[in-house]
Amino acid sequence: MCGIVGYIGKKRAMPVLLDGLKRLEYRGYDSAGVAILENTEVKAFKKVGRVENLLKAIETAGELDSMAHIGVAHTRWATHGKPSEENAHPHSDEFGKFWLVHNGIIENYEELKKELSESGVKFSSETDTEVVVQLIAKEMEAGLSFEEAFRVALKKLRGAYGIVVMSADEPEYLMAARNSSPLLIGVGDGEMIVASDASAVVGTTKKIVYLEDGELAKVSADGLKIELIAEAGKELKREAETVDMDASEIEKDGHDFFMHKEIFEIPSAVLNAGRGRFIASEGLVKFGGIEEIKSKLRDIDRIIISACGTAAYAGLLGEYFIEELAGIPVEVEIGSEFRYRSPVFTERTALIVVSQSGETADTLAAVREAKEKGILVLGIVNVVGSTIAREVDCGIYTHAGPEIGVASTKAFISQLTVLLLLAIYLGRQRNLSVNETKEILADLEKLPELLDSILHREKLAKKLAKKYKDFTSMAFLGRKYSFPVALEGALKLKEISYIHGEGYPAGEFKHGPIALLDEKFPVFFILPSDDVYEKSKSNLEEIKARQAPVIAIVTEGNKELMRMADDVLEIPKIANILSPFLSTLWTYLFAYHVADMKNLDVDKPRNLAKSVTVE
Ligand code: GLU
Repeated sequence: MCGIVGYIGKKRAMPVLLDGLKRLEYRGYDSAGVAILENTEVKAFKKVGRVENLLKAIETAGELDSMAHIGVAHTRWATHGKPSEENAHPHSDEFGKFWLVHNGIIENYEELKKELSESGVKFSSETDTEVVVQLIAKEMEAGLSFEEAFRVALKKLRGAYGIVVMSADEPEYLMAARNSSPLLIGVGDGEMIVASDASAVVGTTKKIVYLEDGELAKVSADGLKIELIAEAGKELKREAETVDMDASEIEKDGHDFFMHKEIFEIPSAVLNAGRGRFIASEGLVKFGGIEEIKSKLRDIDRIIISACGTAAYAGLLGEYFIEELAGIPVEVEIGSEFRYRSPVFTERTALIVVSQSGETADTLAAVREAKEKGILVLGIVNVVGSTIAREVDCGIYTHAGPEIGVASTKAFISQLTVLLLLAIYLGRQRNLSVNETKEILADLEKLPELLDSILHREKLAKKLAKKYKDFTSMAFLGRKYSFPVALEGALKLKEISYIHGEGYPAGEFKHGPIALLDEKFPVFFILPSDDVYEKSKSNLEEIKARQAPVIAIVTEGNKELMRMADDVLEIPKIANILSPFLSTLWTYLFAYHVADMKNLDVDKPRNLAKSVTVE
């Protein structure tokens, strides 16, 4: 999920690698490492924290101007195993022959690790990554060449990876591979840089070859060979492209703001949160992180979800998911209220906390309060090794990757994905049928593609943003699954555009706030064709009668609402329970474009901090 740099060529490798790591820093990471090879001797350095710490350690060791001309380097954003020197990359096999850096997640690492351990291999980290380098070493033992051992090892992997590996015995080349995690090669004059992101390369060369999923590359100082992982001996021809962007544009992948980039990463956030956790055709959901408390979870008869801000709205949807699919009563408590409200627990209550950063002080206070009372505490957290992740009894990581925009977007959708899967898991322990499970999971599998189809229609959101940006207030309404979406849509608009957004349950609006409405108070109504459609439609009539302009999110092809609303944004047909994923995306695109058109600093809204570490 974070950064890779590999170098081979005429220059000294160390400064190029460190410069590359520095250029990747914007992505957010928790540790960094580098390994260089000089005359068959490998020197490796790893540090938790900033690249600057790593640089100091290398300087102290007198290796800043090492004569090595080949090396690999990494900034890690932990997914498996806490941020520590042991878990930082590069990882090596037991004999220190291969040195490997990896971005992504190896889904089947547990199986592979078990097999390797049974055959006597000793592991020295908690990462999923280490299995890859140990596998290569194992295949070499069986008499294969480095190149072939790498290919055979790759064929055994399931999951997402960008990988670069160097061998102490073969200093003439690096091997690299990609599957669902970006990797490219900067082609210089007598030198090559392999990196996860063009910003690490442009300091040296603007000529770039992009690897595609399912490909591997043999990279030497003046040559590049690309093949399919699945098929040896058939070289793929690929021209280098010339990138003509400055570094900051590249960091944002051509997006104007990180928030925009992160909105566009939402389809992959769903994939990553679900990776290795379900098999739709079998109606199966499993989580490594909660296996050991499986039987305790079977006995739970009440759940409290505690979180703050956007995560609390994810929690609210979690309440709907769990009650519907598992039949367990759920309450959502805002983190800052939980502790001071003397919540009542029974022995069979569980607390679930949701936090992107894992450092949210109010949520952490809830964790500590519950632990004090001896309640089972489960965490849904993005940042591995964060305080909440460490203090909960067990947890599920959302694997959304670093989120840089202060207003959360992809992290929310990844929280929803995990909460839905957890609801199914708890449901399967109770009364949820396997057939119903298969249906939901089949739709969950389609979700990334459907989200993409909305992203392709972004310009509609832009058009509406232009029309509505000068209103000073707006209501967001929805019923059932669309109610938390309304809250989240309103919050996003407030956060980044400073327009007052009032999120409300559509049915409750007539009990007071409807008094606000007139032609200057638009309503954003989330109204998919679900089981509360007719009731929501009546609420829409009430609003139209008060002359408020209406934007409606509707299910594709709903002609009736196209007539009633002033503007519509369509979402594809999907199981009702999954509609919030799609409708939220439209609210994000809308809020983003309103803020952008008002020339606001979308990534750093005034008065806000990314992780709120005070109570
Ligand atoms: N899954 C790997 C780990 O936790 C790689 C993480 C990354 O992409 O930085 O070490």
